[in-house]
Amino acid sequence: MNEAEHLILDAGQRPTASRVAVLNILANASNALTHTEILDQLDNFDRVTLYRVLDWLVDGGLAHAIMGQDRARRFQLTQKNTAHQHAHFKCNQCGKVYCLDGVHIKPPQQIPKHFTVESVELNISGRCADCDSHKS
Ligand SMILES: [Zn+2]
Ligand SMILES: [Zn+2]
Repeated sequence: MNEAEHLILDAGQRPTASRVAVLNILANASNALTHTEILDQLDNFDRVTLYRVLDWLVDGGLAHAIMGQDRARRFQLTQKNTAHQHAHFKCNQCGKVYCLDGVHIKPPQQIPKHFTVESVELNISGRCADCDSHKS
């Protein structure tokens, strides 16, 4: 059983071939991928099916979507226990978006009474390692 199949079963869902294929791509990616980038890595995959699988992954908490500077949604695997608070790094140079699972964010303390925090997201922008090493 591969990692993707395992994650889907853990979530109490049925690991269909298309779900496993899409989740596998996300699991092996180092940065968040757009719909087109994911489609490029799949053979004979219907683009509408891909939208459906991605929505399903996001709804089930297995993946999450991040909006890039180009307003395109990018998808990334959600690591266990980081779902509700983690940081994203957007590279100003190449436009790639990375999940920084190791960065811990403290929920804000000054929340008005009767407001419940369900998720906290931190967006950092700058230059990624790839772009940094390419500059002369
Ligand atoms: Zn970059
Ligand atoms: Zn993320």
